[in-house]
Amino acid sequence: MTASDVIIIGGGINGCSVAFFLAQAGLKVTLVERDFIASGPTGRSSAIIRQHYSNEVTARMALRSLRIWQNFADVVGGDAGFVQTGILLGASEEQLPALKANIEMQKRVGIDTRFLTPEEVREVEPAASVEGLAGAAYEPEAGHADPAAAAMAFAEGARSAGATLMLNTRATGLQAAGGKITGVETDRGSLSAGAVVIAAGPWTPYLTRTIGLDLPITASRHEVAAYRRPPTFTRHMIFADFTLDFYLRPETGGLMLVGSIEDVDDQVDPDNYDERIAFDTIAAFAERVTRRYPAMENGESAGGWASLYDITPDWHHIMGALPGVDGLYCVAGGSGHGFKLAPAVGEMMRDLIVHGPSPEADINLFSFERFSQNRLITGQYEQSIVG
Ligand SMILES: Cc1cc2nc3c(=O)[nH]c(=O)nc-3n(C[C@H](O)[C@H](O)[C@H](O)COP(=O)(O)OP(=O)(O)OC[C@H]3O[C@@H](n4cnc5c(N)ncnc54)[C@H](O)[C@@H]3O)c2cc1C
Repeated sequence: MTASDVIIIGGGINGCSVAFFLAQAGLKVTLVERDFIASGPTGRSSAIIRQHYSNEVTARMALRSLRIWQNFADVVGGDAGFVQTGILLGASEEQLPALKANIEMQKRVGIDTRFLTPEEVREVEPAASVEGLAGAAYEPEAGHADPAAAAMAFAEGARSAGATLMLNTRATGLQAAGGKITGVETDRGSLSAGAVVIAAGPWTPYLTRTIGLDLPITASRHEVAAYRRPPTFTRHMIFADFTLDFYLRPETGGLMLVGSIEDVDDQVDPDNYDERIAFDTIAAFAERVTRRYPAMENGESAGGWASLYDITPDWHHIMGALPGVDGLYCVAGGSGHGFKLAPAVGEMMRDLIVHGPSPEADINLFSFERFSQNRLITGQYEQSIVG
């Protein structure tokens, strides 16, 4: 038995961020990952970092996280591959009132964002067609990261602060006695700890079920297509298109990554699903991309992949203490938008575990109990959740 203050299950971006902030606070941390760091959905994330959210708490979390992404080497150490590109979020006439209300709320919390008319969109992004757009939200500070590098840097930062990383180690169950967590069963033996954080993405409910707790998290398959841009098309922003229901972002090597923002929840078995992109998806995304960026008529497919969103009923995290067993915590259910928020999530989990619960804490919004207490997290603008 190895004793830790906290065991974290899962080496995705959230597990690694929580491990970093807890180890930095002086706790003895062990991170258990069944495979390697970022081997799950984190490693296949589009890793878009924007602040366009429709409720204040997530908008503030996105802003706080952005400051860490921008200053990653100083705060965490290493390189998360953050590239500032700016983002445009294009909307139809019907979607404008909610988009504008969101922008006003985001400005109040300190986010650098503004509304652009179609003419102004043309000025900041000449390569984009404004067909079908009544306007757009513009965030010049948005960008994207390298998701595997970011998780690795958090993990390395945790290790430098004293954490133990146990890779190729699968948690097989939770141990509790007298209503309190005592440790984790793994395929390499038992580990004892005073607290356990499950950050196992779509596999999280499988672990909580070992102590009879059912979390409403499903695994849903989502595809990302890559296209090679024509050599003359060298630069573009991130574009989230609420009218055509897709997003795109630049990628190194002259590539563009494209995904859908339709809130589809195609439930799959997280250990048995098709990780390839379908040919039909490549064709369908290409059609939308060329409508928004006509230069892509001369682009080429460069393949793609599918991975998993861990979805909750309101598409927001379940984060904080779980009921029934003292010392058991969870961070999961990022529902396709959880990468960017991971730095704030790490800090919030550190504050909860180190200082205990507080009635004012933002983290309370994400409690598991919200589903039975009818306190679902909703925003004005349904399309606000984009990768
Ligand atoms: C295609 C795609 C595009 C996305 N685009 C964006 C985006 O642009 N912006 C954004 O903010 N978010 C985006 N997301 C969402 C974001 O990537 C996820 O919310 C985030 O990466 C989830 O990280 P995580 O650490 O919670 O979980 P995961 O990445 O799922 O990691 C969980 C880890 O737990 C490990 N594990 C599971 N079971 C066990 C066990 N029993 N024992 C030990 N280890 C275990 C797994 O191996 C895995 O490494 C996207 C997601 C996908 C799939």
